[in-house]
Amino acid sequence: MSALHIYNTYTRQNERFEPLHKHHVGMYVCGPTVYGPPHLGHVRGPVVFDVLRRYLEFQGYKVRHVRNITDVGHLVGDGDEGEDKLSKQARLEQVEPMEVAQTYTVAYNEMSRQMNVLPPGIEPRASGHIIEQIEMIQSIVDAGLAYESNGSVYFDVLAYAQNHEYGKLSGRILEDLMAGAGNESRELEGQDEKRNPNDFALWKKAMPEHIMQWASPWGKGYPGWHIECSAMSRKYLGDVFDIHGGGMDLLFPHHESEIAQSSACTGHNPARYWVHHNMITINGQKMAKSLNNGIRVDELFSGNHPLLERSYSPMTLRFFILQAHYRGTLDFSNEALQASEKGLQRLTNAAEQVLKLPISENTEYIVSDIIKSCQRSMNDDINTPQVIAHLFEAARVCNSAADGKLKLDRANVDALNNLFNTWLYGILGIQAEEKHHGAALDGVMEMLLTMRAEAKAAKNYGLSDEIRNKLTALGFNIKDGKDGSSWNL
Ligand SMILES: [Zn+2]
Repeated sequence: MSALHIYNTYTRQNERFEPLHKHHVGMYVCGPTVYGPPHLGHVRGPVVFDVLRRYLEFQGYKVRHVRNITDVGHLVGDGDEGEDKLSKQARLEQVEPMEVAQTYTVAYNEMSRQMNVLPPGIEPRASGHIIEQIEMIQSIVDAGLAYESNGSVYFDVLAYAQNHEYGKLSGRILEDLMAGAGNESRELEGQDEKRNPNDFALWKKAMPEHIMQWASPWGKGYPGWHIECSAMSRKYLGDVFDIHGGGMDLLFPHHESEIAQSSACTGHNPARYWVHHNMITINGQKMAKSLNNGIRVDELFSGNHPLLERSYSPMTLRFFILQAHYRGTLDFSNEALQASEKGLQRLTNAAEQVLKLPISENTEYIVSDIIKSCQRSMNDDINTPQVIAHLFEAARVCNSAADGKLKLDRANVDALNNLFNTWLYGILGIQAEEKHHGAALDGVMEMLLTMRAEAKAAKNYGLSDEIRNKLTALGFNIKDGKDGSSWNL
């Protein structure tokens, strides 16, 4: 395939990607609800859309990447009833909801940084866009597709479905939804406010004790979970933009509601390509609190979790994620991660070896064929596992050349070097520095411990103690032995 094709969940087809505006791409990705530390379920989306963004930029597009922070309106259970996830966590931690949001936004961004995910160009918060959300709700009410009820505002699904396709994205049929909803208990708080159980909240009336509440035409309250993404994507990317991304778990109700809201307000499905990544399972099981198999990302990096045999680096995790196609499930296990670690090591070793390869007058291999294969795979719905297979082929070529079994001329050695730089480090976003940081740290520590030994020998105990105390305060553990001092972190 000579041009990028992406699977569009909305049309259920692999479609050629053509942006709305030449040379520019607008991409909105649903970000985290920041009420807890990032776990494995949070890590796949940022990596998948980071690679898509890097590839678009590699192709010369200027990408405006917007990823929101949900800090209000997302209720426990993902429906219209129950406590706000952030309010609940704030109550448990006895802090302000904004402290919860700040703590876990910082944690999420730190995780993204460790995973070498490029920061989005705009990271809007739901609580910072209340006015835009109220305006959008008002225009849906004005269009006759939402109604106020007891201080809350609900989207009128039946009225909307008269002139629009409702359920197309998630493949749900309204009649089935209606039949299903009829069987559910209607005693749930707030259900009687709705004309129809499938209606969803655009605005919720706040009880007086609710901390996060704002004035609105319908009284004091807070926005529903779905309206924030419609309002913020529209504000920064326009009524219609190119790519809307997220996990498959967001298809319904979140993205289906987004399409309904935006269509009701602007007359358009907001995104031309709906792109969804699949979920991560652990040892073949869904991650769930009841199974006690939720692994936090920091636990993975430290190895501190009963399901982990040892620690794994952020780049091992990134490579592991990219070894599966984004629309397939990804099963997490120690064996799989260790295999990824070895595989990545093979590629980075080869990438380092390229610089030392012997140069021949003629060549027995044409590296540009691998580059074309990488492009073809990436154009085929971001097939990163295939790209990685081509990089392994490049590593084999590199090893053969190093062993003298294959001749490469200057042009092909340079092409091999470019291949690793562009594809492994550039587009797949693998970071090579880690090892070099480690080597630099070793050198600095050796220098400091030598200085401390010299201070001791000169009976300058004040200085030698100061060096040890400062290192201890930084988290270093210094051990003095017969043959000098050693350290660990
Ligand atoms: Zn969203």
